[in-house]
Amino acid sequence: MGKPDTTVREFVKTEDEWREELSPEEYAVLRKAGTEAPFTGELVDMKEDGSYRCRGCGAMLFASGTKFDSGTGWPSFTEPAVADAVELRADNSLFMRRTEVVCRACGGHLGHVFDDGPGPNGQRYCINSCSLSFEPDADGGSDA
Ligand code: FE
Repeated sequence: MGKPDTTVREFVKTEDEWREELSPEEYAVLRKAGTEAPFTGELVDMKEDGSYRCRGCGAMLFASGTKFDSGTGWPSFTEPAVADAVELRADNSLFMRRTEVVCRACGGHLGHVFDDGPGPNGQRYCINSCSLSFEPDADGGSDA
């Protein structure tokens, strides 16, 4: 973890409120920049059409069309759904130089972005499953 986040956020809660509303694992990841164990998240293998929102504040973060199977055990995307929805910050913790991905609206930690992605922009957003909520597209692809 780096410096305390002093950015003004549009979505603000107290530490007590976050602790009450999030599960212990969600709190550890979103508010304490933790990392869930690989291949444990419920959205790792999600392949349905839909939107991935911040589990902290509901902000729209990633779209299913940019999700790919990175083999890392974490949901992986080539880009955010809305560039402004995420904020990138240098993270030199754990003796590594990484770029942290944060939800701009609530400051929640989402994961990291790496430059070994498969798309034209070469980016791989490696995001913790428990920091996201999946919302299937309304039509659901069903004929029923
Ligand atoms: Fe958020």
